[in-house]
Amino acid sequence: AKTLTEFDTIAAISTPIGEGGISIVRMSGEDAVKIANKVFKGANLTKVPTHTIHYGHIVDPDTGKTIDEVMVTVMRAPKTFTREDIVEINCHGGIVVTNHILQLLLGHGARMADPGEFTKRAFVNGRIDLTQAESVMDIVRAKTDKARQVAVQQLSGGLLKKIRAMRKEILNTLANVEVNIDYPEYDADTVTAKQMADTSQSVINKINQLLKTAQEGTVLRNGLATAIVGRPNVGKSSLLNYLTKSDKAIVTDVAGTTRDTLEEYVSIKGVPLKLVDTAGIRHTNNKVEKIGVERSEAALKKADLVLLILDSSEELTDEDMALVKETDGKKRIIILNKTDLGQKITTAGMRKLTSSAVISTSILKEKNLDELENTIKKLFFSGIENSNDQVMVTNQRQTGLLQKAKKQLQDVIHAVNKDVPVDIAQIDFTGAWDTLGEITGDSAPDELINDLFSQFCLGK
Ligand code: GDP
Ligand code: ZN
Repeated sequence: AKTLTEFDTIAAISTPIGEGGISIVRMSGEDAVKIANKVFKGANLTKVPTHTIHYGHIVDPDTGKTIDEVMVTVMRAPKTFTREDIVEINCHGGIVVTNHILQLLLGHGARMADPGEFTKRAFVNGRIDLTQAESVMDIVRAKTDKARQVAVQQLSGGLLKKIRAMRKEILNTLANVEVNIDYPEYDADTVTAKQMADTSQSVINKINQLLKTAQEGTVLRNGLATAIVGRPNVGKSSLLNYLTKSDKAIVTDVAGTTRDTLEEYVSIKGVPLKLVDTAGIRHTNNKVEKIGVERSEAALKKADLVLLILDSSEELTDEDMALVKETDGKKRIIILNKTDLGQKITTAGMRKLTSSAVISTSILKEKNLDELENTIKKLFFSGIENSNDQVMVTNQRQTGLLQKAKKQLQDVIHAVNKDVPVDIAQIDFTGAWDTLGEITGDSAPDELINDLFSQFCLGK
């Protein structure tokens, strides 16, 4: 049931602060149009048709002062994201002006939206299911176009469709259980048990397919933790500078991802890398960097991918060999750098020592860096990069629930094999149906829903 607060009109800035030239202030609720009209000079918004956009000015009705030149979009319920009236004010005046407009709306009847409240309304009003709601959050956080694509794909309900199909399969079998009980002349228990086991296996296969996408999905979402290692002077900082050049750097509004902190995000051919512990290898104010041993070890521990740089113009040193050994168990690319100075360590020679990818580069002359990028891409996205219609599981909650459902279905098969009475096996079978329903929100407890929405950014 709706609570009182869910009828009121909410407002928030819905674009990331300080990004791009245009900001959007968004309102949703019964009074959205009325409130916007109080501060808008231009067309009478209460009279305009739905889904139209209007040029005009935001004027403070108390002082008569013009705040900004704007475009206002009016969208009336029910064909809106929240299924309520929505007004969006596109302004270009920067953060101070945008805030001023928001304050005006709050002063004329709107309430500041809680984080995720727009999306929550869309969910509460039946516009989207939970996987779609989570996708909205993922879009907000998407760090590369590919990640965004996957999120958009889900928003269109790809995952929802798959999960609902699985639930239906289970439900159909459960319906048969009832039928079998009505025909006592055949061995209902045996038939029912076999059906449940078969369906369980069929659904497990589908869950496995989804789980396979989860690892790639997590990488797309969070970035692949990458450590650049090597002894002093081999070219770590040079590589870091190359990777974080502005066309590759990903600006995020996630706390802790700015330049002087330990993590930076870059997009390499669509693969989001989270460069870990870069503060240690970034030259600041000509100070010579010192990478403490503990520090690079910590970076190594966190890394999913290691870029190990060697100076190929010199013979391998003990220190090099120690690093080769230390990073041996990791996904790794060995970079033989400074090829412009003549190569003492060759690609072929190195490949005899390791099965890792080996690339020769001159970072200084920007030679072969494209091959390095392609290698990074191939290492992680062979097979999935081009399949745009792929449904992916992209978050921990979904993964966890899929694993739980899988376990329940495995228990069903196990019980059937052990001739456990059907109604006992049926408990896990029904349980799996419930668990899958939690993924889409068809059977999600309220607390979970509140938790989930509170993670959203403000204004979404
Ligand atoms: P770090 O100590 O591992 O971070 O190494 P730096 O990136 O600071 O590089 C040390 C020195 O090697 C700098 O003078 C770089 O310009 C130089 N350097 C980096 N890459 C190359 C390369 O491919 N060829 C040559 N000749 N010099 C390089
Ligand atoms: Zn350096």
